[in-house]
Formats: sequence, structure tokens, C-alpha cells
Amino acid sequence: MIYKGVPVSPGIALGKVHVLERYAHKVYRRSILTSEIKSEIARFRKAISETGKDLIEIEEKVHKALGSKKSGIFKGHRFFLEDKILVSGTEDIIRSQMTNAEFAFSMTLSKITSQFLKIKNDYLKERARDISELGGRIMAHLSQRTDETPWDKMRENSIIVAGNITPADTTNMKANLVAAFVTEVGGRTSHTAILARALEIPAVTGLKDITMQLTDGQGIIVDGISGIVITDPDEETVTNYKREKKKYWDEQHSLQKLVELPTITKDGKTFHLLANIEIPEEIQTALAYGAEGVGLYRSEYLFINSSSVPTEEEQYLKYKLVAEKMLPYPVIIRTIDLGADKLADSVDIPDEPNPTMGLRSIRLCFRVPEIFKNQLRALLRASVSGNLKIMIPMITNVSEIIKVKTILEEIKRDLKEKNIPYDGNVQFGVMIEVPSAALMVDLIAAEVDFISIGTNDLAQYILAADRSNENVRYIYEPMNSAVLRLIKYVIKTAHEHKTPVAMCGEMASDPAFTKLFIGMGLDEFSMSAISIPKIKKIIRMVNYEEACQFANKMVGELSLTPAVENIGAEDKTLS
Ligand code: PEP
Ligand code: MG
Repeated sequence: MIYKGVPVSPGIALGKVHVLERYAHKVYRRSILTSEIKSEIARFRKAISETGKDLIEIEEKVHKALGSKKSGIFKGHRFFLEDKILVSGTEDIIRSQMTNAEFAFSMTLSKITSQFLKIKNDYLKERARDISELGGRIMAHLSQRTDETPWDKMRENSIIVAGNITPADTTNMKANLVAAFVTEVGGRTSHTAILARALEIPAVTGLKDITMQLTDGQGIIVDGISGIVITDPDEETVTNYKREKKKYWDEQHSLQKLVELPTITKDGKTFHLLANIEIPEEIQTALAYGAEGVGLYRSEYLFINSSSVPTEEEQYLKYKLVAEKMLPYPVIIRTIDLGADKLADSVDIPDEPNPTMGLRSIRLCFRVPEIFKNQLRALLRASVSGNLKIMIPMITNVSEIIKVKTILEEIKRDLKEKNIPYDGNVQFGVMIEVPSAALMVDLIAAEVDFISIGTNDLAQYILAADRSNENVRYIYEPMNSAVLRLIKYVIKTAHEHKTPVAMCGEMASDPAFTKLFIGMGLDEFSMSAISIPKIKKIIRMVNYEEACQFANKMVGELSLTPAVENIGAEDKTLS
């Protein structure tokens, strides 16, 4: 079979299918006979008691590793196993509707979680998440699956096939020698795709129902360049793809020759290409591909990959390491950008009906000031170790910038009093990824040392199309004139205020836009390290003057009168 999906991370892999079951199961309804009721109820009770045993075991392990505060969660789960609605409710459905235990239990579970979600209380909404997790464990026992360790069965050269995978899963993949992955959902700018590129794992997304169609052990080829996935390939296809794979690597090696060469246009204008990184270990790859600094360090991955909030000291050591390793180049560390599709176990993120437009990123940081202040403190302390810059994501209005600057000043005062060194001139910048910020960039530019355009989110909000949603992928089109006009406006206006402009969204690594952005005057490009050589190759072939004319011709001018002082809405719940 040949499938065509979205190529999100380049490379070719040949291997065996490994369906990540956790995402593949559906609950089916099976009618039962009166004589089966007793055995179905017994099966359900056995699943409950086995789940209870698991929880005691996990509670002990977590207690040893992380203390009673964390292990208490599992005690709470155990109490819930005795809940009347959960237990009797399921048994009643088995009896009255003469149905299998899995189906009866899933009905009870969705009734309970939806009741919790209706309550306007973040704590209780969080409990709905706990209950779903507990439900997953019970369901795993009922259907005799051991879902907690989907990585255990992984063999070398496994190719993961899953409904979806989380950014946290992607790091697991590297450790488990996964050769490639294929998912049902997620586009080029989903965080899973971004991480796959960072880890150089070929990946194809957007293959609807693929988990239903494939089985473990089937032969599979994943072409992350064209988005083609082939199952049960014949010998000739295997030979052809082995050849393609070699060709891909040969090309990569020939691009490597560019690493030592400067990034300069034919008529002598120099550009800087920086790397986006998610984990400090990527510094080696970034340098190997010729990055002249880190234009975006997505620091939230420190939180995503940890079961507890990283302490100030832990963060300080990581930031220091990255800044030192990159010297003399700059490292822009973005403060935590959690929420939407990036979740961390240790940070309470409320379940919201529309998380992409909700309490994410800097908005969330203001709700957890201790975590945010700890991070800023760690960043300031690390600032003496290299050329470190601080960047704030998802800025919507000027008042948010002023608020962050006030917090930074407080921390600086405290550090000074305690004689703890920090760089008093540490550069401070923001991301432009919300249309309101782009349209008010004249006011924003006056407040910051630099800005960086986050085109992944900016395009999503301009076009009102979720960047990870398959159904609206045809609308999520960065080539759209509205997106290009606004980018041009941001660069031009920021330059009028003498503020340099970088771009760290995926458009920066798309060769289709390189000449255009050069012509628009973009100062810096930041991207997955693997894309640096191919963008450098284009820049070295372009003539700057010609690119400027091209940009003027291709993208219409957006002209606005200067914004009046309007600092935007304040969150009154915070004062
Ligand atoms: C962006 O939105 O373009 C960006 C770089 O940030 P992220 O992809 O992490 O949301
Ligand atoms: Mg973003």
C-alpha cells in the first residue's frame, strides 16, 4: 500500500511497524447474554483490584524518588477506585444494558469526567484529568493491555505508527532508536514535528486512520521528504529506497561543505543563520551545521521532559552550559511557552475548551509567578556566562512587556543586594506571534532590544486555523498574502525604530521564502539546525538589490498611522 501524508521531518527510513497502542484503542460495544453478566462484573472487579495493586506499587516508587507530595496523587487515585458511581455505576450498566464491561466502564467514565469539567473550578477540572488517567489504567487491565510502557517492546529500526504523539514522546524515541514515525494528526509546525526535525528522525503526519490499517511487524518505508509511506514493499521498492536513502545522505554531506563558508549574498550583504534548539544536547548538532548562535531555545522542554518543576539551580546550570558552549555567538533563551499542545506534568495547566487561544505561554507564566520568577532569576544569573538574551513568547500587548520588565528589575535589585553577579545589560526581546502585537510593533519596538517573528503561531492566528489541525491544513498556508504583508510591515516598522528583527518560525527554514525575506530586510534567520546549509546555499546565490525589488513587487505594502498609546488590557485577577 502507498499512502501520502505531510512530510514534516526529512530523511528516509526502512523498518518494521510498531503501532503505539496507547493511541490506537477504541472501545467497542458487545451485547452479552444474561448468563454472562456475572462473569463480566467479575472481570471488571478484577481490573479494579489489579489497578489498585499497580497504584500501591507506583505510589511507593514515586514516594522514594520524589517524596510524599507527589506520591499523594496516587493515594487519591486509589480512593477513587472505591467510588460508588464509578464501581456500582458500571456494574448497573452491565446489568441493565447487557453490555461488555469495557463499554459500560467507558460510559461511566465519560459521565463522571464531563460532570467535573462542567464545574467552574480549575482544581476540579484538573481532577477530571486524573480520573481519565485512572480510567486508562483500568481499561488497560480490562483489555489486558499494559499501556504504561509502550516503549518497552521497541526494537531497533522500529517505525512508530500512532494517532498522535506528544513532544515528550519524541524524546523517548531518540533513546529507543526509533527510525521514523508516522501519525494520524499534526502538521509541519506542530511541536511534535519540530522536535522530530531537531532529533533528525524522519516523520510523516496527517495519515488519517493509519493506526487501524497497520499491524505490528509489517515492513514499512517512510519518506520524510515527499510524505510517502509504503507498507509491505517488494524487493525492488526496498532497493530503490535504499538508493534514495543513500542519495539523501550524500546530498546532506555535500551541503556540509558549506558549513565553513560565510552566509553572504552575491553582492556582499552578510546574514546570520542561527539554530532553534529544544534540548541543550542539540548544541553539538547546531555547531556541526554551522549555526552562528541559538536564535530560539525553547526552554519549556526542560519542563516537559521532567516530572517536577526544574529548580532555579537546575535551570541555571543548563542555561549556563548552553551560553558557554555557544560562545562567542549569542543564545536567545525563550521563557516557558507551555500550554496548547505543550503540556508538562509539573505545571498545572487548566483544561480549557480552546487552549490555543487560552491561558498559554506568557499568560500562563503570570498565573504561576513563582515558576516564572525562578526562571528569570536563573536566566539573569547565567547571563554572565556568555552572550545570553532573554525572549518572551506570545506577547499580545505592551502592558505584558512592561509587567515582565518590572519583574526583571525586581529580581535584578535582589541579586544586586545579595551580591550575585548578572549582566546588567542583558538584552531583552519579545516574539511577535499574535496579530495584535504585529500591528502594534511600533510601540513594542520602543520597549525592547530585539524582536523575533514566530510565524508558526502568527500564521495560525492571522488565518484562524489551528496549526496542528488536519481539517484546516489547507487554510493554514503561510504563503497567504495577509501573512506576508504583516511580516513585511513588522520588519519595516521595527527597523524605523532601530530594532533588529529575526524570524524563528518554520518559514525561516523554507527555501521558498528566503529571497523574499532577504528583500524585506530580515536581519536574522533561526531554524532547525538541519535546515541551515540549504538556506545558506540559497543566500549565497541571491543578489540583495534584486531581492529587494522582488520583495517590493511580490508583497503589497501595509501602511498604518502610528499607534496611539494603548497599553492593552490588564489581567485584574493578578493584582
Ligand atoms: C512560532 O510560533 O513560530 C515559534 C517559533 O514558536 P513555537 O513554534 O514554539 O510556538
Ligand atoms: Mg509560537
